Amino acid sequence: MPSIDECLRTVERGPPAKGLSRAYLKRVVQRAADELRAEITAGRYAFDADRASLAAEVAARAGRAIAADEPVMKPLVNATGVVLHTNLGRAILAEPAIEAVEQAARSAVNLEFDLETGERGDRDSIVESELCALTGAEAATVVNNNAAAVLLVLNTLAMGREVIVSRGELIEIGGSFRIPDVMARSGARLREVGTTNRTHRNDYVNAIGPDTALLMKVHPSNYRIVGFTSEVRLEELAAIGRDRGIDVVEDLGAGALIDLARFGLPREPLVADSIAAGAALVTFSGDKLLGGPQAGLIAGRRSLMAKLKANPLKRALRCDKLTLAALEATLRIYLRSGDVVDEVPTLRLMRRTPGELRPIAERARQIIAERLAGEFKLEVTETVSEIGSGSLPAEGLPSVAVTITHPAISPNEIAAMFRRARIIGRVSGDAFHLDMRTIEDPAAFAVNFKSQ
Ligand SMILES: *Cc1c(COP(=O)(O)O)cnc(C)c1O
Repeated sequence: MPSIDECLRTVERGPPAKGLSRAYLKRVVQRAADELRAEITAGRYAFDADRASLAAEVAARAGRAIAADEPVMKPLVNATGVVLHTNLGRAILAEPAIEAVEQAARSAVNLEFDLETGERGDRDSIVESELCALTGAEAATVVNNNAAAVLLVLNTLAMGREVIVSRGELIEIGGSFRIPDVMARSGARLREVGTTNRTHRNDYVNAIGPDTALLMKVHPSNYRIVGFTSEVRLEELAAIGRDRGIDVVEDLGAGALIDLARFGLPREPLVADSIAAGAALVTFSGDKLLGGPQAGLIAGRRSLMAKLKANPLKRALRCDKLTLAALEATLRIYLRSGDVVDEVPTLRLMRRTPGELRPIAERARQIIAERLAGEFKLEVTETVSEIGSGSLPAEGLPSVAVTITHPAISPNEIAAMFRRARIIGRVSGDAFHLDMRTIEDPAAFAVNFKSQ
């Protein structure tokens, strides 16, 4: 084999090396040489070649590797129908939020700088007044995600003390967020009360003692308890707490800012309702129903917010300027737009009806059929899509899909084929489905097939 340096010199003479660092080229050449050596050892390469042609072969492979090298994170076509797909990055940002991120990325900003006094400012003040206006809360703050918001609230207000939670609300959201585990990490002690299906007023009352720091309610986002059930409503819990001087906090999860029922969608709890019902603090996600960037929002009483801000954990969990830029722009849509549902993509996608989706499915079917050779069978069918991320779990939304089958290729193999074209659908029954709820422009299918 020629030496790495020899191969490197061959690569450096060629056009693929232009503008690339020596360290990077060396790594690529090393990998190409290792690969070739392994092939020669395995007898899969005619090794009577001379050193110069082996060096040329390594250089050619390195050139191909450079051409194929791209970032790990790439844009995908989400044809799962799941509007808030955690594995695919949840909410798509609204256009003004995208512009705000770009601007903040390009420039210095008044992240923690008071333009009037020239003194140090508070990054929370960027979105605090908007959050207060939208929720009716006295004060608000923002951290990295809702899990962080719950952790910060419990650690600040209940470390070393008890937090009373109904057994029906000890949920796991998936991706390792479990209320008992977050509680343990926060340093608070979980005091479970009631049963899985029924928890009563007296269960809370009897559990309250000198060590009780908080009463907590958790929205069971991704499942429902139905049948013989009973829970203590937030208003009632707040009244119990008020009598005994104990605060009630609520983890809402998705937390809607506007009433979705107004748009024909299933109702999700409103943050404003929880504040009005007496929650001292409410935590919710920025990238679920709100449709903004990943963030954990905390709204509630000013005196408690001051304690959260004084906790060193707050510094560790804070958001950067890009997140705050996107969040502010998204909240401004809620405050100012005449048609929030149309401007926030998450809400826009949720509201689409099968009637609107059908022509998109027809067009998508056409585009894909033109690009699939062989005996693929494509049909436009009715389906049901999920919102995802524990929002509106029980209620699927009626949708329309392009369903693809093949007599000799399994649905899983078809799914893999589409994944290579960066189109993510879902396998259901004996077919591969492309759900149009999350597709606004069917031309996306054309672009991706070309790059296959
Ligand atoms: C989604 C959810 C969380 C976690 O929120 P992230 O923003 O994903 O960290 C916590 N609690 C509830 C009730 C949720 O639905």
